[in-house]
Amino acid sequence: MTQVVPIGPIETTFSATCDTCGTTFAGRLDGDLDEGVFLCRGGHPIRIERREPPAGAAPATASAA
Ligand SMILES: [Zn+2]
Repeated sequence: MTQVVPIGPIETTFSATCDTCGTTFAGRLDGDLDEGVFLCRGGHPIRIERREPPAGAAPATASAA
């Protein structure tokens, strides 16, 4: 199972710790990409996923009580 690390909607760099071997590494995800798969130093794949911007502009859903 591939580890998933979310990043913010406007972030282009990230740092993550591999759950498998504990290696900490940093990388870059260009702003026009929504996701990417990177390998830690141990060769384990880690998926970087960009979060959607916070839905504050459009009232898409009614607020729960
Ligand atoms: Zn690893």
